[in-house]
Amino acid sequence: LEDAVRQADRLSSLGALAAGLAHEIKNPLGGIKGAAQLLEMEFPDNEDLREYIRVMLKEVQRVNLIVEELLALASPGRLKLTKVNLHRVLSDIVLLQRRAAEDGRKASIQQYFDPSIPPILADESLLTQLFLNLIKNAHEAVGENGVVKVTSRVLSDYSMNQKGERRARMVAIDVADNGPGIPAEVLENMFTPFFTTKSKGTGLGLAICQKIVSEHRGMIKVDSDPSRGTVFTVMLPLIH
Ligand code: ADP
Ligand code: MG
Repeated sequence: LEDAVRQADRLSSLGALAAGLAHEIKNPLGGIKGAAQLLEMEFPDNEDLREYIRVMLKEVQRVNLIVEELLALASPGRLKLTKVNLHRVLSDIVLLQRRAAEDGRKASIQQYFDPSIPPILADESLLTQLFLNLIKNAHEAVGENGVVKVTSRVLSDYSMNQKGERRARMVAIDVADNGPGIPAEVLENMFTPFFTTKSKGTGLGLAICQKIVSEHRGMIKVDSDPSRGTVFTVMLPLIH
């Protein structure tokens, strides 16, 4: 128990530190963004300048993202539980991600939902973060003509645990892609904060996913193979 208290204490002061830091960084960042936009209005005909400003704004946005993600990772988990329509959350993300693929990539994102899945008790905004991260990773892993499949299914696991209790039913969501798969050395490290193989990655996505899944008492697993691609499976207790 003492360990648990110490751990909770450490996490909550880390959360407070992150929240303070996020605030301190976002304010001046807002100032930089505003000044850059004013500069752009001041010199509308200077093409070179506009290009520099575009780079500045993009980098400001990137720092913002890192701060947001760090905050998500460090802030103590207090779940706002409501009945969440999982399929609406997933199809909203799919729509969003299809639109974000404006860079001309033709990867298709498909969804296959089991209509018998009822609303589940969960934190909707955290579930959105979780599946957005996984679907984004899958989308980033595939090239042109790539396929990302988002599938929901019920795991009817009525087996007993050691205490002889029935295990809860779970819902499983698979995010599958036909990308290059994940090499062993990446598999070992990919849930570690700041681990990334991408030039513009933050390396925080999967760490956040793992935190959200464990806060929901769920499980996350990955199955990857260079010839078929990668499947991330999230299992959540079907409480409703
Ligand atoms: P980021 O996306 O910012 O790199 P993540 O924590 O989301 O950070 O992912 C960490 C790393 O895991 C990625 O850089 C990538 O190497 C690997 N990865 C995650 N998902 C996939 C996937 N679907 N296919 C191949 N590699 C993946
Ligand atoms: Mg990512």
